[in-house]
Amino acid sequence: MTVAENLANLNAAISEACRRAGRASSDVTLIAVSKTWDEPVVRQALEAGHRLFGENRVQEAVSKWPVLKAIFPDVRVHLIGHLQTNKVAEAVSCFDLIQTVDRPKLVRVIASEQKKQKRQIECFIQVNTGEEPQKGGVAPGEAAGLVASARAAGLIVTGLMCIPPADQEPAPHFALLAKLACDVRVDYLSMGMSVDFAVAIEQGATHVRIGSAIFGRRGGTAP
Ligand SMILES: *Cc1c(COP(=O)(O)O)cnc(C)c1O
Repeated sequence: MTVAENLANLNAAISEACRRAGRASSDVTLIAVSKTWDEPVVRQALEAGHRLFGENRVQEAVSKWPVLKAIFPDVRVHLIGHLQTNKVAEAVSCFDLIQTVDRPKLVRVIASEQKKQKRQIECFIQVNTGEEPQKGGVAPGEAAGLVASARAAGLIVTGLMCIPPADQEPAPHFALLAKLACDVRVDYLSMGMSVDFAVAIEQGATHVRIGSAIFGRRGGTAP
């Protein structure tokens, strides 16, 4: 299977999941997670017409995307990995949206960097729905407070994002994120990966983040 074929199959599977959930397929956006894959592989997705990508490391994105964006100017790249405050300047200039805003200090640094660069980007707040100590994300009980303070600091918060615990049923985590999004009045829900995107769509996902079903197993050979 080529990357183009994988994308076509996946778009069909997303449409089918939407149909079953009684949702319009235009409500769900596919983020192709291109982390670890270098330019020739990512290019196959670009040449197949795909334009929205996710990266989890600032450094990797900075070395990969400016070149590709010069060739494909309508490309958008979201940061979906943990963001250290010392990488915020690069993140604000390189990404179109940061999905992993998860603490007050990060809010402050992003706000000041946006002013400095005279550049505003959209943000999602990452919620640690499983309250796992090793994982990023604000605790569910503190999510509303963080959204409010991010907005007060001038961030454009349009969505929530979560990564459920690997060893649990994802549905209750997705449902919790959807409820929080409703409470804090944001439109977008980034949830669901290769293995659980259909469940996420059932629970209201607007953005699914999928890597291996498009590009193959990371560390393996690309299609
Ligand atoms: C890697 C990654 C994905 C994609 O995972 P796959 O299993 O390859 O689909 C989605 N979200 C985040 C935050 C990731 O780091």
